[in-house]
Amino acid sequence: MKFGTKTIHAGIEPDPSTGAIMTPIYQTSTYVQASPGDHKGFEYSRTHNPTRDALQKNLAALENGKHGLCFASGLAAIDAVVKLLNPGDEVIAANDLYGGTYRLFTKIFSKYGLKFHFIDMEDISNIKNYINESTKLIWLETPTNPMMNVIDIRGASQIAKEKGIMLGVDNTFATPYLQTPMDMGADLVMHSVTKYLGGHSDVVMGALIVNDDKLAEDLAFVQNSSGGTPGPQDAFLVLRGIKTLHLRMQRHSENGRAIAEYLIKHSKVDKVYWPGFETHANHDIAKQQMKDFGGMISFTLKVGHQDEAFKVMESFQYFSLAESLGGVESLVNHPASMTHASIPYEERQKIGLLDSLIRLSVGIEDAEDLIKDLEQAIG
Ligand SMILES: *Cc1c(COP(=O)(O)O)cnc(C)c1O
Repeated sequence: MKFGTKTIHAGIEPDPSTGAIMTPIYQTSTYVQASPGDHKGFEYSRTHNPTRDALQKNLAALENGKHGLCFASGLAAIDAVVKLLNPGDEVIAANDLYGGTYRLFTKIFSKYGLKFHFIDMEDISNIKNYINESTKLIWLETPTNPMMNVIDIRGASQIAKEKGIMLGVDNTFATPYLQTPMDMGADLVMHSVTKYLGGHSDVVMGALIVNDDKLAEDLAFVQNSSGGTPGPQDAFLVLRGIKTLHLRMQRHSENGRAIAEYLIKHSKVDKVYWPGFETHANHDIAKQQMKDFGGMISFTLKVGHQDEAFKVMESFQYFSLAESLGGVESLVNHPASMTHASIPYEERQKIGLLDSLIRLSVGIEDAEDLIKDLEQAIG
């Protein structure tokens, strides 16, 4: 089954009791048993729910994995992965991670005796310098937020496999339409479903996809034991959102390209961060592992102070100033004061995250209108 067919059909059967073509919202916490232990596969909705099950199967198919597990948020999904580890274990993570992931690792799990190394993975061989007998997990995102760096997934998986370390890839920015990390050797794929998979800015949810049966069983044990599961209404909304994922991602990518190319020529714009440019440091890797380059773009202004960036962000008509990304509508974000404010100023400067950096989540409106909006806002 090809990708566009999977989005609509994978894991989805007509409802057995009525023939309803759309998976019903099974808004129920419990299921009646004929005799103790004699049930239809469902006992309690933290453990299993038919709406969530359909979504989990669908997500697994999209990522070319065997098992999918849904969580109440992207961070709850990552939380479940780290709970597989034991005190003393070490994690090697990319240094350009989603801020919430960094906070979860450093503020929550460091307390429980886990050690995290945050390293530059643009040159993948750097990972080798941090591996020891305690290393149990390598964690990365690509492209990264907000600098749009690209990390070589195949390279990372080679290193991980040699040493028997689990490789987890946060595939939120790319989505399985643009890249499938499991096909490149990742053991585990994670999503903030909140973003492109949901696609309509109306759900918070996370997911994990794996191939290995034992790993799936261990994660399902955490999912049920810790209980960070989503409700059926949200699962329904995401199933509905995913049916157009391929169409949305095509348009996000087309619009992203048009806007990146517009910005790079603008006299008031300094740098534009978008992996589709041939001048991007890891463009070759991006081309190998991604089908297209998506709708996330960051840029800086030549007048490099925050006031100027604020003026631009306040002037938009169609780009709404908000956190989050991946919805049908275009959003603009100021990483230094919004999503990445928890990173100290000096650290931000080091990775190029300047106070004039503006991040765009380009939506699926008409590119012409979006470019006109940029024109009038940047001036
Ligand atoms: C938003 C996001 C997360 C966290 O997901 P939530 O659904 O907000 O908990 C993790 N990784 C990336 C790349 C994200 O953009």
